[in-house]
Amino acid sequence: MKKAPMKAALLITAFFAFMGNFSLITKTEEAPPVQKQEFREITGKIKKGETLFDIFKKYKLDISELYKIREASANIHRLRELHPGRSYKIILDKNAQIDSFIYWMDDDCFLNINRTDKGYCAEKVSIHYEKKILHIGGTIQDNLIASMEEGNENLLLALQLSDMFAWDIDFTTDLRNNDSFKIVVEGLYLDGRFKKYGDILASEFSNNGDVYRAYAFRQNGKIDYYDETGKSLRKSFLKSPLSFRRISSGFSRGRYHPILKIYRPHQGLDYAAATGTPVSAAGDGAVLFAGRRGQYGNLIIIRHRNGYKTYYGHLSKIDKGVRNGVQVDQGRVIGYVGATGLATGPHLHYEMRIDNRPVNPMSLKIPRGATISETMLVAFRQFTDRINSELASVKPSNHIAVGNAATRESRKEG
Ligand SMILES: [Zn+2]
Repeated sequence: MKKAPMKAALLITAFFAFMGNFSLITKTEEAPPVQKQEFREITGKIKKGETLFDIFKKYKLDISELYKIREASANIHRLRELHPGRSYKIILDKNAQIDSFIYWMDDDCFLNINRTDKGYCAEKVSIHYEKKILHIGGTIQDNLIASMEEGNENLLLALQLSDMFAWDIDFTTDLRNNDSFKIVVEGLYLDGRFKKYGDILASEFSNNGDVYRAYAFRQNGKIDYYDETGKSLRKSFLKSPLSFRRISSGFSRGRYHPILKIYRPHQGLDYAAATGTPVSAAGDGAVLFAGRRGQYGNLIIIRHRNGYKTYYGHLSKIDKGVRNGVQVDQGRVIGYVGATGLATGPHLHYEMRIDNRPVNPMSLKIPRGATISETMLVAFRQFTDRINSELASVKPSNHIAVGNAATRESRKEG
């Protein structure tokens, strides 16, 4: 395992990814060398609550130009409300007049306003990333996030992976040390530098001796994940009402990541988790009950199709919108873990019933959702055949195979 150099490589790519934002623009916006010293450049990031007016005042810019710039961009992007954290760049000419104004609307495009003979002209410029196929493999030590390389992009990749298998694997309780994963993912590059991950094309997760595979495939204009036989990975119930994504949001490596414990002392499952841990609806349904009920404390009951009901007990808090009769979608946060009712410590009591008969959600066989249509099946088989050989070449120890992948051509799947 060449862990240390990889980490350094990632840090460097992250740095250039950040710098990349501007290097691209300077290339096209650069003034001729003679005038260059006379041009002035202002760059920054929008602060919380900051308006364009505030920025103009701060740099003593001509307010009458602000109105012209706002007007020029009105049909493309309204500059009345700026998004905190977004970057901007203003170039002033030798008369301190605005020559150009650039505002990043999101990671993938920016608003480009230039002064012309006819006044300001605005355009939306999309970034065209170069795509490379990356291979990432790893072995679980402690938990999924700790097993990934450092960096926000890798955290997002871990969450994307947990979402794909959310119907089969409970990433908070099911993982075992030495479980392993392989990911074939698009890497998005700008000027040859890694910027972020795109879609996961396929992945494999070996959990406690069972192997799960997921293949991304576009059908009816929508990308979804399928198993090897072409069945959607979606099921009517999530493996766990405690979503790994919800629990992990805001997690950073420096902080303790909760590893949950699960008990089955009675008819239902008890998840020991910190007070305030978000609880998600395991499946689509209608709220049948939301309120206080005896030993359950704060309880939510959801009625699903085919006679299924799920119970969520001891909640510290029930989400505001969750009332009798309200429809809830799978994965929606409905309440928060607590110790109300008869509970010695904070935990979620989770129960599933079919026609009022308690069942064990862990051993319940839930059928998968839609399958790939007959007409698309040939294309799907071609895709899985090709991607299987990619998956086979991923080593569980090569955390990020950037060097290897850099020689590969970028390609589109779908
Ligand atoms: Zn219980």
